[in-house]
This record gives sequence, C-alpha cells and structure tokens, in this order.
Amino acid sequence: MEADRDLIARKKAILLAGGPVKVPKDFRPPFPVSRSTAGPGAGSTAIVLAFGGTRLKKAITTGEGEFTLAGSGPRYTIMRGNEVLAEDVDIKPTVAHAPGQAFFNLDTQCIYHCKFCTSPVLDERLTKGLDPDKVVAMILKAAERPDMGAVAITSAVVKDPQSTVDKLTYVVSMVREKLPSVPIGVEPYIDRLEQVDQLKRAGADEIKLNIETFDREIFTKVCGEQDLDRILEAIAYAVKVFGRGKVTSNIIVGMGETDENVLDGVETLAGMGCVATLRPLRLNDMNRGPMTEALGRLEPITPERMLSLARQHRAILERHGLSSYTLHTMCHECGCCDIVPFRDI
Ligand code: SF4
Ligand code: SF4
Repeated sequence: MEADRDLIARKKAILLAGGPVKVPKDFRPPFPVSRSTAGPGAGSTAIVLAFGGTRLKKAITTGEGEFTLAGSGPRYTIMRGNEVLAEDVDIKPTVAHAPGQAFFNLDTQCIYHCKFCTSPVLDERLTKGLDPDKVVAMILKAAERPDMGAVAITSAVVKDPQSTVDKLTYVVSMVREKLPSVPIGVEPYIDRLEQVDQLKRAGADEIKLNIETFDREIFTKVCGEQDLDRILEAIAYAVKVFGRGKVTSNIIVGMGETDENVLDGVETLAGMGCVATLRPLRLNDMNRGPMTEALGRLEPITPERMLSLARQHRAILERHGLSSYTLHTMCHECGCCDIVPFRDI
C-alpha cells in the first residue's frame, strides 16, 4: 500500500513539475473549466485530474503539451510521450476554483508587487468585477451543491491591508450567519495584529498568512514591499487566536533557495503551531520576466526535490504533533498544487 502511495505521489510530482496537458481540439470537459485569478494557475485554463486517491489541477492546451490526455471519457489516460503516466483518470468538478470548496478572490489589483504573482496583470474580464455582496451570493448559491464542503476567501490588497481585511470580514460574517457550520478559511495580508482577531470574530476558522520564502535575500528581491518579521509575528499571534494546526503559510520552492532553508522555514513555522504549504514555483509568460530580472535564471524544481521536501515536511510536522488534516479549507484540503504531507505522502 505504502509503495502504491509513493508511486501515485511520484506521478503527481512529475505532473506538477511539468508543463500543460494537451487535449484534443474538440475536447469537451464534463465540467466547466477553471479560470483562476489567484494561486499558481492564475490566468490559465485548467481542469482537475484525479487518480489513485490524489488530485491536481493542470493547465490544458490544444497546442503543444508535455503531457497528453488520451481517451474519450469518462475515464482517461495521461501520457508523457509514448509512456503511460497515469491510468483511470477522472476529471473532477470544482465548486469555485477548487474541488469541494467555494474559493473566491475578492480583488486582483495589488499595492505590493511580488515578482512571482500574476494576479495584478490578469485581464479585467477574468477578475469578473466581483463585489463583496456578489461573492456572498455566489457562496450561498454554491452551498446548495452537495459537494461543497468549505469556503475560502483571498484577496490582493487594492488600497491598504485594513480595507481589504474589512471586505474579507464582511464576506465572512455574512456567510457565517447563513452557514453556521461550514469551515471558512481566509488568506489576508495584515499589518496590525488586531486584524487577526477581527477575522476570527467574523467567523473564520482557519487563516493563511504567507511568508512566501524563508530566505531573507530572496524575500527582499521578490516581496521587497513586505516585511518577513512582521508576517512571522502575525503567524505566531494567529496561532494564539485560531489555534495550533489552524494557521498555514505558503513557502514557494524553486526561487533559488536551498532545501535546508526551506526546511528551516517549515521547522520555524511548525514550532509556532503553523503548518506550511510547500508550493512549487510556476513560471509563465506573466511572471517569467520579473522573476528572471529579480533572481536570474532559475532551475526548475524537479519531482525528486518536491517529494524529498514533502517527506521531510511530514517528519517535521510529526515531531511537532501537527498534521495537514487539521486544515479543512484552502490548499491542504484542496491538494491540487502541491505534494501534501500526510494526504499524499
Ligand atoms: S501581496 Fe503579493 S502575492 Fe499577494 S496579491 Fe499582492 S502582489 Fe500578489
Ligand atoms: S491547492 Fe490552493 S491554489 Fe491550488 S487550486 Fe487548490 S486552493 Fe487553489
């Protein structure tokens, strides 16, 4: 069983590290495709593929692809060249952005200019012009679906962190009033610790405060308008408010940092009661230029590195009595973009 799980995780890592999946020109997915405005797939057309108990989101193309989706459904095969990579593959629906979750991004324009982030350069048509009341209505509509298990809300910072937190608070409190027991996760940028209390009081259950990297030099180059120490301080405070295992933070892997640095970051976060998300960097036409300018030519992350970091990530969480299973919203629950410790490996 363990060997099967390792093999599935390896296939997932190969897919996550690789390019898009080629589909036939007349491909008709059984569910609407996902066009995300946040996360690593922002701006691309993607589908959720599931096999062997795991799932992942992949960009699809009718042009050249590293992988090919073969078959006419409902079960498919993923090919890499002439080699079968995964069989008995299902296409899964998303509720909104993620399978099982209504995950909304309130805004894409941002006062920070993180070099890897594609949200602010997305076409206006993709951002859908969502106002908070529309988002609340869409979440409540999504809650009628039997497969909706969680709500998550993120946002870029259009004006300042407080006004974004206020908007998030509004959406969370309206949803909480109507859906008293659904898990709600929030992913804000905060500049005052009281904002953590504000979101908790509104009814959020889980919070994601991203450090993005634990390498200070890289942090300055890619997130120079933010302050790593303040984010770490906010995470420590958030654990007091939300509880151990209810706080998470992205560490992007593939920006030139060492494995030791990544694991130091995981350990530091775990020491506070926070479960990291190790997110493979995805370069695309929107962020390749700014990232290369900031960091030089980057080595793509290999499946082996992803798997090895995920194993060590799991071991660190175990030592701290943490698990990814305490998080029921956002990326650990979704699992589409990373090798998730405990769930995948
Ligand atoms: S804070 Fe950085 S990562 Fe977040 S939306 Fe703004 S630019 Fe993107
Ligand atoms: S893992 Fe996170 S960023 Fe990726 S699709 Fe799921 S919710 Fe979105």
